[in-house]
Amino acid sequence: MPIPPMPVVVDRQDPRFDTLKKGHNLRFPATDAEAASRVVLCNDAREASAALQRVVSSGLRPTIRSGGHCYEDFVSNNPNGAILDLSLHRAVDVEISGHVRIAPGACLGDVYQSLYKRAGLTIPAGTCYMVGAGGHISGGGYGLLSRLHGLTVDWISAIDILTIDQSGKVIDRTVSATRDPDLFRACRGAGGGNFGIITSFRFNKLPLAPREVATVYLAFPWADMTEAKFAKFLITYGDFFATRGQDPDTFGLFTVLGLSPRNRDKNRDGGRISISAQFCTPDGTTADLSVLHEFFARFKEFSPTLILPTKFDSANSSSTVNQTDPAAEKAKHPYDVTTRPWLDATLADGGSGGGSRAKYKSAYMKQTFTPGECSAIWKFLNSTDIDAHGSILAIDSYGGAVNTPARGHDTAIAQRSSIMKLQWMCYWRELDQDAGRLKFMDDFFTSVYTGSHVPPEFQGTPMGPRFEGCYMNYADADMLRYRFWPQLFFGTGDLYPFLQKVKQQYDPNNIFHSSMSIRAT
Ligand SMILES: Cc1cc2nc3c(=O)[nH]c(=O)nc-3n(C[C@H](O)[C@H](O)[C@H](O)COP(=O)(O)OP(=O)(O)OC[C@H]3O[C@@H](n4cnc5c(N)ncnc54)[C@H](O)[C@@H]3O)c2cc1C
Repeated sequence: MPIPPMPVVVDRQDPRFDTLKKGHNLRFPATDAEAASRVVLCNDAREASAALQRVVSSGLRPTIRSGGHCYEDFVSNNPNGAILDLSLHRAVDVEISGHVRIAPGACLGDVYQSLYKRAGLTIPAGTCYMVGAGGHISGGGYGLLSRLHGLTVDWISAIDILTIDQSGKVIDRTVSATRDPDLFRACRGAGGGNFGIITSFRFNKLPLAPREVATVYLAFPWADMTEAKFAKFLITYGDFFATRGQDPDTFGLFTVLGLSPRNRDKNRDGGRISISAQFCTPDGTTADLSVLHEFFARFKEFSPTLILPTKFDSANSSSTVNQTDPAAEKAKHPYDVTTRPWLDATLADGGSGGGSRAKYKSAYMKQTFTPGECSAIWKFLNSTDIDAHGSILAIDSYGGAVNTPARGHDTAIAQRSSIMKLQWMCYWRELDQDAGRLKFMDDFFTSVYTGSHVPPEFQGTPMGPRFEGCYMNYADADMLRYRFWPQLFFGTGDLYPFLQKVKQQYDPNNIFHSSMSIRAT
């Protein structure tokens, strides 16, 4: 006799409820009234199917959770509803044929380790090893290898998903380019929580993981920065990716320009301006570092100081600056390059902290910065406002293999022309800091996109010829204030109308919804 599916149900009386009702961002649920009435933990697809049927048949609203790293309240704000939690459904299978199946509850760290150890493969996904495949991959999934290998959704060959038909019955589907291709496309980037519960992602082919990568981490002292120098610094960074960064031999270079406010917490030496880089040549090795050095040569005039990340000092890492003539090498490249096996580098720095209240925003840029943008960023980073504390602006290199136009048509990621992706983040602890922190972030972001570089109808947003809107996986409910918010996330072409049709067809009763889900009409 097969054992009947038995998901674990944690209700309000259960001591685990207070822990499990919330995800990574402690702002949600904002009140007890917004909290779900139960969390249903599903071990596999069968349990998820049975649990979904029970929840829907009893008239409860289901929200879906995998890794719990949603930026907004899409999962935890579910008044008296049920959170279907897939975090225990976490297998990563590699078949002899090389086909791969990733369950939604697998954390990226599990995925990287399993794929690498079993088959030497990887997905070009995010940096945080606690983020769940379920939300991450359905929203695009990008990271340090994306310039080299594109987005994770670009590699998916089929998806197993549970949808609900007009009569309220669960339908178990496997969608692909030949079966329900419209739903397949929509699930490759439109974001989770829109159409049904994804129970696995399948890949017929995946890229080989690099053998090793080289990393550099440099800081640029705030004390030395003037507004003019800062503007030149940002423009230099953007220029590289707008020009040289378009060449395929540079696609193995991924960089993050990290900016935290000059006056951040004085107890922690104030804020930081830094560039971290990971590099390998397209064949996944580090014998030729000329592209990496070419990139950093552009920053010599900004007087970088070397910071040796202590986590890099593992037995498996080595400093490669001084291979031949140490003095001559050091004079040419006044920083250390650390080479490490790719898996070590990938797992070393991927913690997500947690236990914080947080807010995030994003922007795709097709060109380097304008002086006006630099000036707005300068102003906010020099703020003495207490609400500037805890904020970070991360400017990631982008493009490369992501910018393959065909993928814009067979996935639900429209942004295929950008060279940088910006992420605003802010972390704090106390509820009474919410209003100030949220306002600071909103003002900062809005001011960067206000001015003559943005068309009048899109003021305050990264829309217009220089931009490609925002990233759905960096969900930002502030954008709902703009009537064109769907175009910010899904582009101005035919993608959003297409997603609306998919929504009408596969979720006719709008069972799967949140403040930023696809509207049927
Ligand atoms: C610390 C941190 C680092 C990050 N780094 C990166 C990065 O490097 N690159 C990047 O691209 N993104 C990154 N992100 C963003 C991340 O990809 C998204 O927040 C993602 O949606 C989280 O997925 P999750 O499963 O962990 O979250 P969840 O909160 O579980 O889910 C997020 C959304 O997906 C839906 N969903 C979850 N599981 C399923 C499922 N099985 N079926 C259908 N819908 C589902 C949820 O309903 C919700 O709407 C990061 C986020 C954090 C917090």
